[in-house]
Amino acid sequence: MSRPIPPGSTLGVLGSGQLGRMFAIAARRLGYRVHVLSPDDDTPTGQVADLEIRAAYDDLDAVAAFARGVSVVTFEFENVPAATTAACERFALVRPGGNVLHTSQNRLREKSFLTSAGIPVTPFWPVRSRGDLAAALAQAGTPAVLKTADWGYDGKGQAKLASADELDRVWPKFAGGESILESFIDFQCEISVVGARGADGSRVAYGPMQNSHVNHILDLSFAPAAVPPGVAAEAIEITREILRRLEVVGVLCVEFFVDRSERLMVNELAPRPHNSGHLTIDACTTCQFEQQVRAVCGLPLGSPRQHRPAAMANLLGELWQSAPPNWPAALAQGDVKLHLYGKAEPRIGRKMGHLTALAETADEAARRVLAARAALVGRRV
Ligand code: AMP
Repeated sequence: MSRPIPPGSTLGVLGSGQLGRMFAIAARRLGYRVHVLSPDDDTPTGQVADLEIRAAYDDLDAVAAFARGVSVVTFEFENVPAATTAACERFALVRPGGNVLHTSQNRLREKSFLTSAGIPVTPFWPVRSRGDLAAALAQAGTPAVLKTADWGYDGKGQAKLASADELDRVWPKFAGGESILESFIDFQCEISVVGARGADGSRVAYGPMQNSHVNHILDLSFAPAAVPPGVAAEAIEITREILRRLEVVGVLCVEFFVDRSERLMVNELAPRPHNSGHLTIDACTTCQFEQQVRAVCGLPLGSPRQHRPAAMANLLGELWQSAPPNWPAALAQGDVKLHLYGKAEPRIGRKMGHLTALAETADEAARRVLAARAALVGRRV
């Protein structure tokens, strides 16, 4: 095991959105410097980093120069090209390693890995042709969901098939690429566990958080989730097992469906901090971003202990549609915390920030955070 990277060193992050921003804030609190590389400038991460490098991810000279200037490279999104990580590995530690990205960049590879590890997933079928899709639909039945195997997130590259008659409507959008057909799960709820694994193999976990989505985008998370203790313990155990098998050094989120019989199925992995873990900033001894800093620097992990039940609501661009949000109205509740990501343009569906509320119960925290969000636009809930 390499020696810890001490505070005062420089950390590199690939990708410059809000996850990189919150990582950089945690890193700076611990006394590190942060460099960020992405194709944009004046980014959420760049605004709080020591150095913002604007370059394409496939500009390998720029990537190599970036990696030379840092002790470790981490990332805030999983779709970093393999050549980019390889270029970084020549000059710096890369954590988590390229193997973790490779597995989680493709839904078929991810689900095959999980199945081979004996971990339950949504039933799935690989689809590479129209014939594959017809055969898969015959087995899966409907409703079912067709997803591109690569580069999908927040419901992008997905189509729901209510009946097999919809095959010809849906197929043209997927022809030519690799896809995956999944049974549509009539789930009771969606939960996630954010886990971290240190360079010494130690592991910690947060949650499960309970999540609800609107238009495929996370809307609300709260913890503790309203699931039986046995289900929560199993979700944590599965997350610990995935961290161990993939030898993750860093943070990884596991998203699950809980079906009507309270069986868990993994929907997706994200090898980085996750939107559902944002409430850890205000509710836990060590947040998911500090945990990422500690893990990639080879430091001991911190306690993930949650002090109080908490809920987080995303703030999307549509809240800005008719007028700037009324920030004082939301902040009038002392237990509500505001996080904004420094994005100038509030587009529909764009994650601009989030609110977290703490309370005596998760239900009450959810009620407060939704009331605070409604107050931003002069509504009541
Ligand atoms: P994903 O990009 O795979 O995480 O999908 C985004 C959201 O779509 C999930 O969080 C679910 O709410 C829904 N979804 C995706 N796949 C399925 C499925 N097989 N069955 C039911 N809902 C799904």
